[in-house]
Amino acid sequence: MFGFGTKNIGIDLGTANTNVYVDGKQIVLREPSVVAKNTKTGEIVSVGTEARDMIGRTPASIAAIRPMKDGVIADYDTTVAMLKYYINKTIGKSAGKPYVMVCVPSGITAVEKRAVIDATRVAGARDAYVIEEPFAAAIGAGLPIMDPTGSMVVDIGGGTTDVATISLGGIVSSRSVRVAGDKLNDAISTYIRKHYNLLIGERTAEKLKWDIGSASLEGAKDIESVTIRGRYLLTGLPKSVEISAEDVAHAIEEPIQEIISTVKETLEETSPEISADVIDHGIVLTGGGALLKNLPQVISDATKVPVSIAKDPLDCVAIGTGESLKSIDVMKKK
Ligand code: ADP
Ligand code: MG
Repeated sequence: MFGFGTKNIGIDLGTANTNVYVDGKQIVLREPSVVAKNTKTGEIVSVGTEARDMIGRTPASIAAIRPMKDGVIADYDTTVAMLKYYINKTIGKSAGKPYVMVCVPSGITAVEKRAVIDATRVAGARDAYVIEEPFAAAIGAGLPIMDPTGSMVVDIGGGTTDVATISLGGIVSSRSVRVAGDKLNDAISTYIRKHYNLLIGERTAEKLKWDIGSASLEGAKDIESVTIRGRYLLTGLPKSVEISAEDVAHAIEEPIQEIISTVKETLEETSPEISADVIDHGIVLTGGGALLKNLPQVISDATKVPVSIAKDPLDCVAIGTGESLKSIDVMKKK
């Protein structure tokens, strides 16, 4: 609890993680976007890390729900419950209702945006405003967004990859595809089932991606194999299997290519002046997906533009959303 007086908060409501920024206090909460519910009563069992650790391990009476999918609200009531829990946890019930800035992917529909605003209000906001995710990411990455020079940011989260060029405080061109961390996990599970007859859970697939995932096959050669466990389909029994980094690189080749194509297409739509700026300053990667090994190199090879990873890529959107709280006062007067 942070007492009275803290009324503005910024929420990065991500498909994988929810991060909350309290005005003047930086990020105060980082939790997975997961809620565990009792399937009979609808009662909430746990929220965040505790709920995430239950994924794939719940008895019939409990469901571990990820209420956000592909960057948008898939389960409205659960999203409201999660937001309510996080708002209370960060500012406390006694502090009065906060004004909340929430980020949304750039490609979503007006209806999807409306749902985010409504959910945030129902969850306890005095009022809610939205900021486009790539814009928030660019602020959080420290890009010179207000300058008359073009910047390009690629935010790779759990559900969506958002690509945008920004100049003079506005988005010049942007694209959002529903291919990001979750699709990489799915691709890994599918590959291992096909090639090893082994069924693995979402969390195991994600861990493989974090530990030995590589965006390039070449780069995978230098990464050691790991042993994983799952259910062997031919016997139905548990089995250990050694998985190489090349396996994982092959598995994720297609979604990685889709991400690269999206970056290229956005560049192709960009004006010559901004393209020139992007060549000078490079492309900046944000979001958890930016941490995939060898990703900057493969994007750079495909676009012939230098690529770097922002400092604390998982925090950029929340920091940018929080920074933009300053403009809430301007919006409130309208
Ligand atoms: P969102 O904004 O959609 O909630 P985040 O920006 O929080 O997403 O990033 C979460 C995604 O980043 C997940 O898919 C997660 O697996 C992925 N991720 C986190 N760390 C790594 C890593 N070291 N390597 C590859 N992917 C990662
Ligand atoms: Mg995000």
